Amino acid sequence: MSGKKLTLENVKKFAANAAEKNGWVLNPDPDFLESVVEGLYNTYLEFGYMLCPCREGWGERERDRDVICPCHYAAADVAEFGHCYCGLYVSEKFIEAGGEPGSIPERRPEELMP
Ligand code: SF4
Repeated sequence: MSGKKLTLENVKKFAANAAEKNGWVLNPDPDFLESVVEGLYNTYLEFGYMLCPCREGWGERERDRDVICPCHYAAADVAEFGHCYCGLYVSEKFIEAGGEPGSIPERRPEELMP
């Protein structure tokens, strides 16, 4: 990720690859997906790394490393709730069952939050 700046398209691809690698799928709602990907792109532009777009970060890569997408909490959240905290990544099973991502508990420990 060094050198050339990522484009919105790169971020989309990145998310698709991350989903595939982890056995998840991207949120099937195109507008929702677009908005989270844009959020991710914006945090990347602001901080230089893809900070979770639905969390507050420290703005320092080292302190935010647990919430750089895909965050350290995504696998457990997808397994337990069918989707990650932002609803970017979902499980196929959850979608097939007609699930829609909603609000879930924050798994990031309080002591790691700004
Ligand atoms: S909750 Fe985690 S996996 Fe989902 S968009 Fe935010 S950082 Fe990425």
